[in-house]
Parts: sequence; C-alpha cells; structure tokens
Amino acid sequence: MNLQFHMPTKVFMEENCVLRHADLLKPMGKKALIVTGKNSARITGALGDVRQALETNGQEYALFDEVMSNPTIECVYRGASVAREVRADFIVAIGGGSPMDAAKAIALLAVQDIGESRLFSGDYQEKILPAAFVPTTAGTGSEVTQYSILTNDKARTKTALSSPVLFPKIAFLDGGYTKSLPRKTTVHTAVDALSHSIEGYLSNKANPLTRTLALEGIGIIARLFSALRDFSLSGEDRERLLYASMLGGMVIAQTGTTAVHAMGYSLTYFKNVDHGQANGLLLAEFMKFTEKTNSSVIREILEAMELLTVDDFQGIMRDLLGSGDRLSDEEAQDYAGLAAGTKNIGNCIVRPAQQDLLDIYRKIFGSRG
Ligand code: NAP
Ligand code: FE
Repeated sequence: MNLQFHMPTKVFMEENCVLRHADLLKPMGKKALIVTGKNSARITGALGDVRQALETNGQEYALFDEVMSNPTIECVYRGASVAREVRADFIVAIGGGSPMDAAKAIALLAVQDIGESRLFSGDYQEKILPAAFVPTTAGTGSEVTQYSILTNDKARTKTALSSPVLFPKIAFLDGGYTKSLPRKTTVHTAVDALSHSIEGYLSNKANPLTRTLALEGIGIIARLFSALRDFSLSGEDRERLLYASMLGGMVIAQTGTTAVHAMGYSLTYFKNVDHGQANGLLLAEFMKFTEKTNSSVIREILEAMELLTVDDFQGIMRDLLGSGDRLSDEEAQDYAGLAAGTKNIGNCIVRPAQQDLLDIYRKIFGSRG
C-alpha cells in the first residue's frame, strides 16, 4: 500500500472546548492577536470564550477584526503589521474560512519578510507564530489545512498560499458556535465541505485513508440534505456538519482540490457567488465529465450518498442552491482559460482540457432555451 498522511493539528471537539482546554493556550506565549471578521466572532460567543480563556491564563491580547469574506492580500499584510506592532506571540483565529485563512498568512508574515512577489511561492522559512483556530462555519475545514486562500487581483482569481508551516497548532471545534448561521450560509458552507470530500475522492493524490475519510464526510452530509433544505437542523446535526467539514479539510490537506474549486474561484471573484455555492453549482457536471471515463469512482461517491445517478445529485444541489445566473460566452471562455492554468487541474484523476472546462461552464450557465 502506498500512503502518505500529514495532519499536525491537535483537534479538540466538544461543547465548550475553548474554556475546557484553555490551559493549552498557555504555552503559546504572553500575548495573542485575535483575528476575526466584523460580527460572527462576537455573536457566536466564541470571542467572549476566547477572551475569558486568555484572561484566566493571565495572557494579554489585541484584536484584529478587519477580515472580510474572501480576504485580500492587503488585509493580511495589514494584519501582520498589527501583529508586529502589538508584539503578538501567537494568533487565535475565530470565524469562517475567511478569518482562518487570513490568520495563517498573518501568522507567517508577522515573522518573515515575504514580499508580494513571493507571497504564493510556498518558499518560506519554518518560523511562524503558533495559532489556535476556532471555526464558526462548518465548511472550509481550514482549521486542519495548510492552505490560505486569498483574493489575488493581479491573477484575477483566488490563489492559495500552501505550506506545511501554515497548519494551525490547535483546532477547537464547538458546534454551538455554528448555530447562529443563517440558512444560506449553512447550506453554502455544508456544500463546500461536501465538495472537499468529493473532489478529494476524485483526486489523483487520494489514498485509502483519504478515501475512507471522504466517504465518511460525504455520507454524513448526504444524510442531512433534507434537514439542510428545510433548515431543520438539530444541535447534533450542527455538530455532524462541523465534523464532516473537518474530515473534508483533512482530505484536501492530502489531495488538494480539483477543477471544481478552480472553476468556482472565477464565479466568486467576478460574480460574487459564495464559495460553497460556486462549488455546488459545478460539482455534478464535473462528476458527469469524470463518469464518462471512470464510472466506478462516481458510483462509489453516489453509493455513499445513497443515490443512483448524478442527475439525482444535480437535482438535490439545484434544490439547495438554485441554478445560478447566466454567463455570457465570453465570460465562460475567460473563466475556462483561468481555471485551465491552475495546479488543481493536475490533481484530477480524469484531467479536463480547457475545452472540457468551457463545456462544463456552458452546460450549467449557458443560455437556457
Ligand atoms: P466566511 O467568508 O468566513 O464567512 C461568511 C459569512 O458568514 C461572513 O459574513 C461571516 O461573518 C458569517 N459567519 C461566520 N460564522 C457565522 C456564524 N456562526 N453565525 C452567523 N454568521 C457567521 O465563509 P466560509 O465559507 O467559512 O469561508 C470562505 C473562505 O474560505 C473563502 O475565502 C474560501 O476560498 C476559503 N476556503 C479555504 C479553504 C482552506 O482549506 N483553507 C477551503 C475552502 C475554502 P463575519 O464576517 O462577521 O465573520
Ligand atoms: Fe472550499
């Protein structure tokens, strides 16, 4: 058997885990920079819990609450300069994928002088501020990945910093923090988590361990499709989604994502489509493309969801996400070109050519007669 697996983040998943395991923050240093978005860290109660944990430990903290959705390069350089100014020893990130991803870049840029031209090179030294992550969405799995995805205006897309140094040291997973998510964000983030496990399963870097985790994650989310549609999730369902999201993160940490994420980035960058929704709109057509050459791998994914055909799956995604706005053919061609140039394409077990990507965009977003 040929298998590699690297996941250095210590994971704690239970109710009130931030307060219960507050002592784990102690060795991280005297002063924390807490990295968040504008509201969610406060309304979920996570910021209050982190503050209380740090105060109990006698640790100081400063707050950087300026991370927007799909964080920009400018935002992470600003966060890093704040971390330097306040002399932070470590980072605590609270929020969805956006604050968590920004926090990884901030932790790196706070201690290494990396100019914008080298930002996405992956060519970094080992040093980084240690970080503890508290997710408040159940979708990205960023708390267990080595990726920080930033809006990259020069490349007209979103680009990943990727390096093993970026793995957070600790992840605190408390499903209670996700209860305040409105329906739309709940659904979009759950579909992102599903997409990670499906794309990981369709990656040429998949191995027996990632496939096992992926099928587990896919099954958990599929069993919640109707509760997601009706927005009738129980507290335990919220925990299940957070668990499945973490599994998806562990999968893509090994396999990377595929054409679906690469194609979705243009929908987010140019059309402001939420990240998870973008993936969900694309997933079924990409599965159909893969199925033409490798039907058994798609059958395994469908079996995990207890579905018979990709059309059934496409129907469920449409129910959850709608159909998306039309794209002009010029837009579709531009986006296909951008996606074709990404590393993600090389991860696909059935590798799409630029024309295949264009066909997928046209099928989903072309004029509907
Ligand atoms: P997000 O952009 O972090 O958050 C979306 C919205 O949800 C924000 O308005 C946020 O508010 C709000 N929110 C967060 N938690 C909430 C809660 N518990 N209750 C109510 N509102 C809440 O969304 P996301 O989908 O989690 O992250 C998307 C980002 O992650 C994208 O940039 C994507 O590229 C990236 N991503 C990263 C990885 C990875 O491996 N690193 C994987 C997939 C995606 P606030 O602004 O107030 O926080
Ligand atoms: Fe994602």
